[in-house]
Amino acid sequence: MGVIEMIDPATGERLGELEETSPEAIERAMVHARKAFRRWGNLPLSERMDHISRLRRYIVEHADELAATVVKDTGKVHLEALMTEILLTVDFIKYYEKRAASILKPKKVPTPITLIGRRSWVEYRPMGVVAVISPWNYPFQLAMIPAISALVAGNAVLIKPSEVSPLTGLLIEKVFRKVGFPEDVVQVIHGGKEVGERLIQARPDKIFFTGSVASGKKVMAAAAEHLIPVDLELGGKDPMIVFADADLRRAANAAVWGAFTNAGQTCMAVERLYVESSVYETFVQMVKERTEALRLAEEESDVGSMTFPRQLDIVEEHLADAKEKGAKILCGGRRTGTDGLHFEPTVLVDVDHSMRIMSEETFGPVLPIMPFDTEQEAIRLANDTPYGLNSSIWTKNRKKARRVAARIEAGNVCINDVMINMVNPGLPYGGVKWSGIGRYHGPEGLLSFCHRVSLISHPGRKKREINWYPYSQRQTDAIRYLIRLLYGKGLHLSMKEMFNLAVQFLRRK
Ligand code: NAD
Repeated sequence: MGVIEMIDPATGERLGELEETSPEAIERAMVHARKAFRRWGNLPLSERMDHISRLRRYIVEHADELAATVVKDTGKVHLEALMTEILLTVDFIKYYEKRAASILKPKKVPTPITLIGRRSWVEYRPMGVVAVISPWNYPFQLAMIPAISALVAGNAVLIKPSEVSPLTGLLIEKVFRKVGFPEDVVQVIHGGKEVGERLIQARPDKIFFTGSVASGKKVMAAAAEHLIPVDLELGGKDPMIVFADADLRRAANAAVWGAFTNAGQTCMAVERLYVESSVYETFVQMVKERTEALRLAEEESDVGSMTFPRQLDIVEEHLADAKEKGAKILCGGRRTGTDGLHFEPTVLVDVDHSMRIMSEETFGPVLPIMPFDTEQEAIRLANDTPYGLNSSIWTKNRKKARRVAARIEAGNVCINDVMINMVNPGLPYGGVKWSGIGRYHGPEGLLSFCHRVSLISHPGRKKREINWYPYSQRQTDAIRYLIRLLYGKGLHLSMKEMFNLAVQFLRRK
């Protein structure tokens, strides 16, 4: 196994190196995790939650220090690290502290009349060892939130952070150690994609993967070999639709923040902006002015550096392709600063769907804008993508907003807002089409780390049931009557049929 170089992407400074976890160590970690699961999964929920609450308090007390490490690892702005990595994580923990007991408690299910005399309910049991494989763009929260959800549900967890953000991997390891989590309940596996592949070969009981579509497909194929359930949180090409009757100032501010926060490296960033023709020129001008006002690479910067050199190459490839096909750059479009991976926030127009910048995930500080004439055209353009993660609709007409929202093919829709649904811990989060499979956050986010076991119970004092052996003509008649009575014309049975049914019923009694 190799060595990962740790580099501050904002300055290019070399921070050290980290050895990848060896295949033997991955196997050992799995054995230890299985043992730890037996202890952890059998603890009462209240005891598990005590550990989780301690974790929250530790994160709160060390918020700035943790954020600073993530900044060094990714080049993002400190405020963004505090907001999206730390605040989001502790808010989720608080949500589960309040709700886990009610989400995980057994749920009674109505028993139909055909099963009269029985009781039915569902219990939620942990699955075992969960592998959480995470990306580099929000390396703390995208590893922590699924890991914490899996832990609350009673699973042991093996986290495989991205090789692009190894410092945060070390940080996560340290946090759990400092909090005094029971041994081996959470272990961190360091390394790149081969290490991720090895982790899957070690056969976890569930895989929670966040990353690109290309890797997601490989993870799903590898998981299929062992029939391991997978949740996939993948990429996006999110549309923002601005109608002429929207609050244009709010929409312009949102477009700029939604496209450039985290240097555009957000799965649900605004990657395509569609504006109604009658306000197009005005709106483009508003977006351009706001983009040009952003501060870069200063003490108090608004846009941090990009994180991954290869991602910056993709941004430049998409821009070159767009320019060649006729797009016009209104502002930005170049690398900036002497060190690191800074790229100017870029606004471009005269774009169309033949360009990579409008059809592939760019994942950088780039905002292409395109006009539309009708509601139908806006919906068609928004849905003209294999992705379906987030989306936003901007109009003061609530009816129109709901009508358009109902036709957008995405797992998440914001109305007069941007990216925000992920921040409500009670809302399920995930994509449709290529953007993923499964949901996390909210009650679903906890239950997706559980086996849902259905139970049915009979008092056990009856010798035989109507559907058991030996079969007879009377049974056949009784079942036929029952079908007609319950699912057909109801009480429109003939007198003879009613009589026969009554006889059957009395006999059974
Ligand atoms: P990536 O797919 O390259 O890597 C993600 C993680 O998977 C890394 O830890 C990597 O080492 C590991 N990995 C890669 N190939 C693997 C394999 N075959 N088997 C096992 N593990 C493997 O993605 P990335 O570049 O780190 O992240 C950016 C992508 O993630 C973007 O497409 C972005 O949209 C997406 N993303 C999605 C969400 C979401 O919630 N839907 C959130 C953040 C990022």
